[in-house]
Amino acid sequence: ETVPDEVDCLVVGAGPVGLYQVFQLGLQELSCAVVDTLPFLGGQCAELYPDKPIHDLPGLLACSGAELVERLNRQLEPLRPRSVLGQEIVSLTAEADGRWRLADAAGRVWLARTVVLAAGVGAFAPRRLKLAGIEALEGRQVWHREPRPDDPIGALPWVHGGDDRALDAVFALVERGAPAVHLLYRRDTYPAHAERVARLEQLIAQGRVVRHVGQPEALRLDESGQLVGIAWMASDGGSPEHAASALHISLGLNPRLGPLADWDLGLARKQVPVDPASCETRLAGVYAVGDVCSYPGKLKLIVCGFHEATLAAHAIARRLRPEAPHILEYTTSSARLQRLLGVD
Ligand code: FAD
Repeated sequence: ETVPDEVDCLVVGAGPVGLYQVFQLGLQELSCAVVDTLPFLGGQCAELYPDKPIHDLPGLLACSGAELVERLNRQLEPLRPRSVLGQEIVSLTAEADGRWRLADAAGRVWLARTVVLAAGVGAFAPRRLKLAGIEALEGRQVWHREPRPDDPIGALPWVHGGDDRALDAVFALVERGAPAVHLLYRRDTYPAHAERVARLEQLIAQGRVVRHVGQPEALRLDESGQLVGIAWMASDGGSPEHAASALHISLGLNPRLGPLADWDLGLARKQVPVDPASCETRLAGVYAVGDVCSYPGKLKLIVCGFHEATLAAHAIARRLRPEAPHILEYTTSSARLQRLLGVD
């Protein structure tokens, strides 16, 4: 078994609230790390509305989702927390000494004196294409993720989807030298950035990308179970099919609460009930903040999540250092906080 990483607090979820949680724990001089399923920081702000301005953050007239994430990340940089991206925490179990053991899907293990669940509306997972026989091809000729340089793509790679990620997948395959990349999407317009769409149209005009409009209906396999073709339902009602050697699927991400549902947290309507004074759940030393938590009057707003993260950090400091006096310090006047933030 891998040697566990030991931390005062493990934060599950790097959305805006998880990031601010890490900042507040850092001000308490507690060691912490944050883990997220997504390969980037920012949760819903980064995934669902990076370019939309938020207008109700205190004192910020307008700040896009991406800018907020960038600002939160810059603010916590001096505290140098560890972050592990692209990994889902899949288990939470109690140790005899009162600590919590958590493991991610890759088998990395954490031993944490406390845990903060900042899991939002859940871990974002790729929306899957449901077709007969697809599971057996996953990881060999079919992927629900972006192409990586060592994926075998063969002579006839396909991409299914029309968003920014789908078009990026097309560009990556073109750059790998595929003679032609086939793109299948239900419409002939794409919900992607204008520059990407322009680049796509150019590649189509050059014959480097072949456009198909329709919904995939079936995968064709040969006797040895290899993917050899794709059939789809075209907008004119026809059912054309074409040879294929690989298929990258990009249909967006869906949040799912996933493993959290099995952790005896007493979930009510997909939220974790907490004590509003500390944000502690019914498991001692396990806290929940942000969209995932609930208490009377809870609002799923970023500013409320920031408040919860602040309360949780103070409650965790009191829990882990019960003998130390707990003094409220201001960043404007505390030499200790200023030293931590590198602003002294
Ligand atoms: P999230 O942002 O959901 O982040 C949770 C993170 O946890 C995710 O990245 C997820 O991958 C990760 N995660 C979950 N489970 C696991 C696991 N087991 N292992 C690892 N990682 C895990 N709020 C406002 O205040 N003002 C607005 O103007 C505003 N506009 C919005 C517009 C839209 C379109 C949407 C969808 C929301 C808006 N919100 C707004 C709401 C705001 O985005 C949420 O309140 C906020 O994102 C909650 O932050 P969070 O950190 O709690 O959760």
